[in-house]
Amino acid sequence: MRLATYKKDNEGSTSWGVEETGGTVIDGPALYPTRDEAPATLLELIQGGPDALSRLRSLVAASDPETSMKVLDPVLLAPLKPGKIIGVGLNYVDHVAESSRSLDTDASLPTRPVLFSKPGTAVVGPNGPILHNSELTNQLDWECELAVVIGMEARNVAVEDALDYVFGYSIINDISARDQRRSGQWFFSKGQDSYAPLGPAIVLRDAVTDPHDLDLSLLVNGVQMQNGNTRDMLFKIPQLIADITSGMTLEPGDVIATGSPQGVGAAMDPPQYLQPGDEVVATISGIGSLTNYVTAVTAPINHVTEVAAQ
Ligand code: MG
Repeated sequence: MRLATYKKDNEGSTSWGVEETGGTVIDGPALYPTRDEAPATLLELIQGGPDALSRLRSLVAASDPETSMKVLDPVLLAPLKPGKIIGVGLNYVDHVAESSRSLDTDASLPTRPVLFSKPGTAVVGPNGPILHNSELTNQLDWECELAVVIGMEARNVAVEDALDYVFGYSIINDISARDQRRSGQWFFSKGQDSYAPLGPAIVLRDAVTDPHDLDLSLLVNGVQMQNGNTRDMLFKIPQLIADITSGMTLEPGDVIATGSPQGVGAAMDPPQYLQPGDEVVATISGIGSLTNYVTAVTAPINHVTEVAAQ
C-alpha cells in the first residue's frame, strides 16, 4: 500500500489517502464511518501505531471501488512534516571516495554511522521548489537517498528488532550547500528551507520486498548524475536504527535519510551545481520518482516553501 498527502482544494487544505496504480488517490478520511474517527493527517495515522494501520487496511479491504472517494489527478504534497530528519553521511563506499577527493572528508570508511540532522521545516513535496539563494550558496548539490519513515517510538532498539519500527519508505533528496559546509556551517549546509524534498508517497514496509536491493538514480535536466543500489549501503537500515536509538529517541514520523550513492555534483570534473530553472528527478525502484525545480530567491528567505499543513 502507498500513502500520500495531497492538496484537497485551492484554499490550500490538504488530505491524505491511498495512492493506487495509475496515480489516483482514494481519500483516506472518507473511508471511515465518521470523520471524527479518521486520522486528520498521515502523521496522525502513523502516530496511531499498528492498530491504526490495521484499521486502515480493513477499511480499504472493505471499501467499494465504485463508491470510494477517488481523486483522479491529485496534486501530491510532502507525505508529512517529520519531527526530525536524521541524515547519514558517507554511507556508500564510492561516495566516501568521491567526497574525500572533493569535500575534504576522510578517505577511510567510517566505523560507525556519521549522523547529522535536517529540520522538518526543510521539507518540500513533489514539484516543490529547491530554493537557490545566491546570497547563501553557489554550490547547491543533490543527493538521492532512501528515506526510512519510523512507525513507533524507538529507543535502544536491537539490530534484530529494528525493521519492526519501520512504517515505510520514501525518497528524500538531501540537498546540500557545499560552500556552507566548507566554511564550517554544517547545519546551514543541510538544513535550509527546501533542502529536504520528500515524497512522492510512503510505501508501506511490507510492500517493499528488500529495502537493501533498490536502484537509486538522479537526473538533472534529463541527464543522469547518480546511479546506485541500496545494497551498497555501508551501514544497513537495522544498524542505523540501532545506532541512532542508542542515544536518541526516534518518534513516529521521524525520517532517516540513509545516505547517498556516488555521483554528487561537487565530485564532478569540473564540479557541477544546481542552477535556477533546473529540473531534478530522484527515482528509487518500487517507490517512484520525486521531481523538484530549482528556484531563485533573494535573501532574506521568508518561508515561501509549501509543505503539508501538519
Ligand atoms: Mg546525504
